[in-house]
Amino acid sequence: MTDEQNITGAEDVEDFCRVCGYDEERFWENGVPTGAICPCCGAKSGIGGMGEPTWEELTEIREYRGHWIGNGAQWRSPTLRPKDWDLLKQIANIPPEWR
Ligand SMILES: [Zn+2]
Repeated sequence: MTDEQNITGAEDVEDFCRVCGYDEERFWENGVPTGAICPCCGAKSGIGGMGEPTWEELTEIREYRGHWIGNGAQWRSPTLRPKDWDLLKQIANIPPEWR
Protein backbone atom coordinates (compact mmCIF):
# COMPACT_ATOMS: atom_id res chain seq x y z
CA MET A 1 0.00 0.00 0.00
CA THR A 2 1.31 3.46 -0.85
CA ASP A 3 1.11 6.42 1.51
CA GLU A 4 -1.29 8.06 -0.87
CA GLN A 5 -3.81 5.26 -0.49
CA ASN A 6 -3.37 5.39 3.26
CA ILE A 7 -4.48 8.99 3.75
CA THR A 8 -8.15 8.37 4.47
CA GLY A 9 -7.59 5.11 6.33
CA ALA A 10 -11.21 4.20 5.78
CA GLU A 11 -10.20 0.91 4.20
CA ASP A 12 -8.07 -0.07 7.17
CA VAL A 13 -10.83 -0.62 9.71
CA GLU A 14 -13.78 -2.99 9.73
CA ASP A 15 -16.40 -3.13 12.45
CA PHE A 16 -18.56 -5.83 10.97
CA CYS A 17 -18.26 -9.59 10.67
CA ARG A 18 -17.80 -10.68 7.08
CA VAL A 19 -19.64 -13.91 7.76
CA CYS A 20 -22.74 -12.81 9.66
CA GLY A 21 -22.78 -9.00 9.64
CA TYR A 22 -22.44 -8.58 13.42
CA ASP A 23 -21.25 -4.99 13.87
CA GLU A 24 -20.44 -4.43 17.54
CA GLU A 25 -16.84 -5.60 17.37
CA ARG A 26 -13.60 -4.38 15.76
CA PHE A 27 -12.51 -7.10 13.34
CA TRP A 28 -9.87 -5.31 11.27
CA GLU A 29 -7.57 -2.47 12.26
CA ASN A 30 -4.74 -0.84 10.29
CA GLY A 31 -5.38 -3.34 7.53
CA VAL A 32 -4.76 -6.42 9.68
CA PRO A 33 -7.20 -8.76 11.44
CA THR A 34 -7.58 -8.05 15.16
CA GLY A 35 -8.04 -11.74 15.92
CA ALA A 36 -11.45 -10.99 17.37
CA ILE A 37 -13.86 -13.89 17.41
CA CYS A 38 -17.38 -13.01 16.43
CA PRO A 39 -19.74 -13.54 19.41
CA CYS A 40 -22.50 -14.28 16.95
CA CYS A 41 -21.26 -16.75 14.34
CA GLY A 42 -17.93 -17.62 16.00
CA ALA A 43 -15.82 -16.74 12.96
CA LYS A 44 -12.34 -15.42 13.65
CA SER A 45 -11.39 -12.25 11.82
CA GLY A 46 -8.74 -12.75 9.22
CA ILE A 47 -10.43 -14.55 6.37
CA GLY A 48 -9.39 -12.79 3.22
CA GLY A 49 -7.67 -9.42 3.12
CA MET A 50 -8.64 -5.80 2.81
CA GLY A 51 -10.18 -4.51 -0.38
CA GLU A 52 -11.84 -6.63 -3.01
CA PRO A 53 -11.96 -10.31 -2.01
CA THR A 54 -10.61 -13.01 -4.28
CA TRP A 55 -12.92 -15.76 -5.41
CA GLU A 56 -11.29 -18.20 -2.96
CA GLU A 57 -11.73 -15.81 -0.05
CA LEU A 58 -15.34 -15.21 -0.95
CA THR A 59 -15.97 -18.94 -1.24
CA GLU A 60 -14.44 -19.54 2.19
CA ILE A 61 -16.70 -16.88 3.74
CA ARG A 62 -19.77 -18.25 1.98
CA GLU A 63 -19.03 -21.80 3.08
CA TYR A 64 -18.63 -20.70 6.67
CA ARG A 65 -21.82 -18.66 6.51
CA GLY A 66 -23.76 -21.48 4.86
CA HIS A 67 -22.58 -23.95 7.47
CA TRP A 68 -23.43 -21.58 10.31
CA ILE A 69 -26.92 -20.79 9.04
CA GLY A 70 -27.48 -24.43 8.10
CA ASN A 71 -26.92 -25.32 11.74
CA GLY A 72 -29.53 -22.87 12.96
CA ALA A 73 -27.44 -19.67 13.14
CA GLN A 74 -26.48 -20.38 16.76
CA TRP A 75 -24.78 -17.60 18.73
CA ARG A 76 -21.33 -18.39 20.02
CA SER A 77 -22.05 -16.13 23.01
CA PRO A 78 -25.80 -16.54 23.50
CA THR A 79 -25.84 -14.01 26.38
CA LEU A 80 -24.97 -11.25 23.91
CA ARG A 81 -27.85 -12.09 21.64
CA PRO A 82 -30.39 -9.23 21.61
CA LYS A 83 -33.97 -10.15 22.49
CA ASP A 84 -35.22 -8.84 19.18
CA TRP A 85 -32.32 -10.20 17.13
CA ASP A 86 -33.13 -10.58 13.46
CA LEU A 87 -30.76 -12.70 11.36
CA LEU A 88 -31.83 -11.21 8.06
CA LYS A 89 -31.44 -7.64 9.32
CA GLN A 90 -27.97 -8.40 10.60
CA ILE A 91 -26.90 -10.09 7.40
CA ALA A 92 -27.87 -6.91 5.56
CA ASN A 93 -24.81 -5.28 7.24
CA ILE A 94 -22.49 -7.41 5.13
CA PRO A 95 -21.13 -5.28 2.29
CA PRO A 96 -22.10 -6.53 -1.16
CA GLU A 97 -18.57 -7.70 -2.00
CA TRP A 98 -18.63 -10.18 0.92
CA ARG A 99 -22.13 -11.56 0.39
ZN1 LIG B 1 -20.03 -13.27 12.69
